[in-house]
Order: sequence, then C-alpha cells, then structure tokens
Amino acid sequence: MASLRPSILNPLFAAVTTLPGIGPRLSQLVEKLVGPKVVNLLWHLPTGLIDRRFTPKVGDAPPNKIATLIVEIIAHAPPPPRNKRVPYRVTCGDATGKITLVFFHGHQDYLEKVLPVGETRMISGKVELFDGKRQMTHPDHIVPPDQAHNVLRMEPVYSLTEGLSLKVFDKGVAAALAKTVELPEWQDPAYRARQNWTGWHESLRQAHAPKSEAELAPLSPARARLAYDELLSNQLALALMRLKRRKLRGRPLKGTGDLRKKVEAALPYKLTGAQIQTLNEISTDMASEDRMLRLLQGDVGSGKTVVAMLAMLAAVESGAQAALMVPTEILAQQHAETLQPLAAAAGINIALISGRVKGAARAALLAAIASGEVHIVIGTHALFQKDVEFADLGLAVIDEQHRFGVHQRLELADKGRGTDVLVMTATPIPRTLTLTAYGDMDVSRLDEKPPGRKPVDTRLISLERLEEMIDGVKRAVDKGGKIYWVCPLVEESETSDLAAAEMRYRDLHQVLGDKVTIVHGQMKAADKDAAMTAFQTAGGPQVLVATTVIEVGVDVPDATVMIVEHAERFGLAQLHQLRGRVGRGGREGTCLLLYAPPLTENAKARLTTMRDTEDGFVIAEEDLRLRGGGEVLGTRQSGLPVFHLADITVHGDLLATARDDAKLILARDADLESERGQALRTLLYLFEQDDAIRTLRSG
Ligand code: ADP
Ligand code: MG
Repeated sequence: MASLRPSILNPLFAAVTTLPGIGPRLSQLVEKLVGPKVVNLLWHLPTGLIDRRFTPKVGDAPPNKIATLIVEIIAHAPPPPRNKRVPYRVTCGDATGKITLVFFHGHQDYLEKVLPVGETRMISGKVELFDGKRQMTHPDHIVPPDQAHNVLRMEPVYSLTEGLSLKVFDKGVAAALAKTVELPEWQDPAYRARQNWTGWHESLRQAHAPKSEAELAPLSPARARLAYDELLSNQLALALMRLKRRKLRGRPLKGTGDLRKKVEAALPYKLTGAQIQTLNEISTDMASEDRMLRLLQGDVGSGKTVVAMLAMLAAVESGAQAALMVPTEILAQQHAETLQPLAAAAGINIALISGRVKGAARAALLAAIASGEVHIVIGTHALFQKDVEFADLGLAVIDEQHRFGVHQRLELADKGRGTDVLVMTATPIPRTLTLTAYGDMDVSRLDEKPPGRKPVDTRLISLERLEEMIDGVKRAVDKGGKIYWVCPLVEESETSDLAAAEMRYRDLHQVLGDKVTIVHGQMKAADKDAAMTAFQTAGGPQVLVATTVIEVGVDVPDATVMIVEHAERFGLAQLHQLRGRVGRGGREGTCLLLYAPPLTENAKARLTTMRDTEDGFVIAEEDLRLRGGGEVLGTRQSGLPVFHLADITVHGDLLATARDDAKLILARDADLESERGQALRTLLYLFEQDDAIRTLRSG
C-alpha cells in the first residue's frame, strides 16, 4: 500500500546517503550503528559532553584537560623513512610556550596542508605531558582562526561503532538536523505549557546540543518532550488498533457447557482459582458480540494449556471450530498428545496439522478441516497457509506469543468470520511494559500455580568449578536424572570466548558417551526434533546440551536439573523460563547458574534475584529495574516495542499520561480529522506507526 506520509517528513525518511558527507562507506557504519534512514540519526541522542571553551595560553595549559589553543605552526618532523612506529610530530606554540602535536601514521601531504608552517591555527584536544613537555596526540579539531566558532562550544559525545569517528558522526547529525523543520504541534497546548516544553524542532535541536550535564538527563525538558512524543505515538497506535478491532464485528460464542463439563470431569485435578477466574473472563468475551482479543499471561507451569482447551471447547459447543497455534513442531505434537485424551473424553475430533503431513494424508486432513469434521486443529505457522480452510473458525488461540510478530496476531483470525483471538504468553511482562506492547488487548493473568509444585533449588556457581560440575553431572546421570545444560551461543566466531555448546557437548561426551545429545539453533528442524524427542524418551540420552532453543515450552516432566552456563549473559526473564523447565514431574528440581567471575554489581543483583524468588512477575519487574526498558526481556525476540527516546524505567509517568492522552484524543476525534488530529497523523508517521494509520477511514 502506498504510504501517505506527509511530504514534510520525506527528507527524514530518505537514506542517510542523502546527507552531505555520508558516502557509501560511512553510510554502512552509520546504518550499523543507528539504522538506514536520516530519522534514525536524529533518534541517536548524545551520551556525554566535551567542553571546549577552555582557552588557556600554551604555557598555562594543564595536563589531562581538554583545551582549545591558538598556536603558530613552527616546524614539521616526519618520522624517519620505513619506521612506522615513530609518529609524525608538529611543533607549535605561542609567546608562553610550545606544544608538540603527535600523529601516528600521519600523512605528510595532509598534515602540511592543514598545519602550514608560519600560520596560525586553532587546535583542540587533550593536553598531555610527555618527558616533561606538552603534547597533544591527534587533536580533535584543527581549524583556521576564522572558524573558531565551530570549535568553541560544548561538543556532544555519541556512542559510536568502530571505524566511525565522533567528528564525522557529529557532522552527520548536524546534516540530519538541517533537514528538519518545525512540525505542526500534536501535543495538547495546555499540557505542553504546564511541562514548560518547547516545540518538537527546538527540543530535538536542544537534545543534540546539550549545554550542561543536566541537559543530558532523560528528564531534562527537551528529552522529556521527545520521549513523550514517542510514547504518545505508541499509545495512540495501540488505541487505534483497539478501536479498529472494536469495529470489526465479532460473534457471540456462548457455548452450552456440556463438553467442558465432560472434560473437567476427566481431569485428574481441580482447576485453580486463577484458572476459573481467567476462564470466566474469556467466556464473557467470547459470549459477547465484540471480537475478543485477550492476552493470557501465566508463568511456565501455571496451567495455560487446559485453559486454552476449555476455551476452545466453548467454541465447539457453539458449533464453531477452534485452532491452537504454537511456535514449533515439537510443541504442536506435545499439545496434540496432551489434548487428545481430553478431546476423546468430550467425544470430539482433534487434529495436528504439520508441515510433515504430505500428499493424500494432507489432502484428507484439509478436507476434514474444511468440512468441519475436525473440531480443533493444532499446528504451527502451517495454519496460516492458504490451503488451510476452516468450515467456521470461531476461536484462534496463539501460544507463546513472543515467537510470533505482533502483527501476526490478527492474521490467523482472518481465517474466520469475527474469530475471537486468545494470545497466551509465558513471558511475565511488567505492568508498564504490558501497556506499551499490548495496550490493544485485554489482559488476564494466571498468577497462581497449580498446587504441589516444589520450589526449585537455585544456586550460583563460579565457572571456575566447571570440573566439579561435570563430575556432579555424571553422578546425577548414574542415578537416572535428566539434565539440561544450556550454553549461550554456538561458535559464532572462533575468537568468541563464549562457551560454545558444541565444545561443551564434546567435553561431556568424553565422560558420558551416548548419554549426551545436543540441539542448537543452526541444526535443521528435523534434527532438532529428533534430538529433543530422544531426550524426552525414557532410556534415551539423559543430558541435553542446548542453546536457548529449549526456552520454548517443551515439557520433559522428569527433567530435574537445569544448568545454565554464563548465566550472567542471560536476561532474567530468559533464566526464569529456563528454570521453569525442571521440577515439573513432582520431583524436586535444581537450577545451577554458572557465572564467570568477577560479576559486576548489576549482574550480581540479577543473579541474586534469580536465587531468591521464583515469582515470574517479581522477576520481570526486577529485570526492568536493573536492565532498563531498552533491553528488558531480550526485547527483540520478545516482540516488545523498542523505544529510541523513551526509557520506561524513567519515563513511566509520561507513559501513563500518554495513555490517557491517547484515549481522550480518540474519544473526541476518532478519525484524527481535526487540526490536532492531522498533526497527530504526522506524529504517527514520524514514529513509523504506519499500520495504525491504515486503520483510519481516510488513512
Ligand atoms: P503452561 O502451559 O502454563 O506452562 P501447562 O498447561 O503445561 O503449563 O501445565 C503445567 C502442568 O500443570 C501440566 O502437567 C498440567 O497437567 C498441570 N496442571 C494444570 N492445571 C492444574 C491444576 N489446576 N492442578 C494441578 N495440575 C495442573
Ligand atoms: Mg504452555
């Protein structure tokens, strides 16, 4: 679809190569650092400041301080030929003293051009003492005196990538800023006045030209305004999506309760209070005319599967079908096996659709789905495929949401008319982040675990004790235990000091032989499945060396030990997921977090949290607090939005305001057609919320 982005924004969405001074080589570095577009440069705010306003005489310049000096060039001393280790030196000075400029690998032609003997130049950089004499290695700036105004200022410092110099990047940012103009104000004027904020353009300019440390703070007016804009765009986009969903007609799926009664009677346990509560919320949504879009959050082991099953039965009772979509084939199989006996108890048909069912078998299965003979279908992405047609899909349940993109949420629902959607995630998400990621959904929390689970014994162990660990593993294996051994990465680079899973596998194989197997991200799906299946099987391998692929809800009830190597490199949420894999079969679980000393204070705090609590929601809040909003939960894979200007850990109040603001905006002007509405469209485009704009009638 053609974008209707206002033309005023076009220069910002052009490639960085459209900026003067950024050619193909530099653009690659800039792209690696911030992204491919001009706007990405604008969102990269300074992290520090260099004060270049100190202008002593040469004889008064103290060592180890940034100084800007006016000097006369006295003499050049190139290194002797073929001796690359000796630097190129240029002597300069004023009436009070001399200073030597030092250049390693300096090019004579260039240096003679920028530092002509007998002329005056302004230089700026850190003054050093060497053998009791003043010198400056690679001055940051060398300009003729008439360009002094370019140097004599507070210079912003940016985090950079190797090969990209501050000077070059700074120029890039200046060029990007030069492409910006004031945009129509989208903020509520009264609110902006109360906050003492300037307009967007001025705020952006100030954020890139801080005059003091205070102006670098995330709550400084310029930065707060930009953060608010970003949060408002996020909240407005989610509110628009929610509004659109409300407009899509749903259908009432009331159910009779007959099938659910049969299945509940067949369960070997009673539902927990939390399960009953969430089922009520789900049933109410399903019974209503509106379309359901509900998120079910519940820790690993909190019993989401049976909740999903009972919800799907409500759809079947109403004469419709239901689908359960999961991220991997293994999980699909596992769910099919768990749910098959329950379906049998209810006297309905359940089927697994997999990429591996081919030919006539597949055709028969598709026909049974299309005719409505199959009531519940379980599968992976395969469910999306065009040839999968339902007679009448009433409810789509999506498990382990974080593996699917946020935008796939409604895709499955499009397979039916007014299909209700239930998304389940085992990633506990802090409340503030739930707002930013799932503001378009209603949320249920399974915050109570089924009874009888024993706490997992969690210990922090230095990697220096690896040998002992391996002996311990051998003893546990001899006693019949099943053990996960998780490594952070598979040989990405040979120089990497990460413990490679393959190397650890070889170590363990020497001690344990065929009792060890391995599974990692670079294996073919079929090989992965085979390894996992073998590990699950009684009499199969007892140690599974893995990268984090096992994070995704695979159930091996008799696994008792979880070992995580370099635990300090994992996010808390990830560690929590991993730990949830053990101690599920009523046997006591152990989790050993191996770390490489010395730990930073922060890493120590994070691992201690892991040791001290098993409550996923508490861990998630701690993770957010300790790592900051930008990184929480390994953001990329979690499907949570990445903010450039806002940091949830400090801008939480602004988020709450943005949420209320968005509500109010849409209550007054749902199609964003007023003057402020038009400005808000520009805001949405600015933060690339194009999907949200498409929900508008005239978008
Ligand atoms: P999740 O998908 O939330 O990680 P599961 O649905 O796989 O958790 O449930 C974990 C285990 O708890 C399963 O073995 C399941 O049979 C069991 N279970 C679920 N609900 C209850 C309950 N109310 N009482 C006892 N056990 C339960
Ligand atoms: Mg599950």
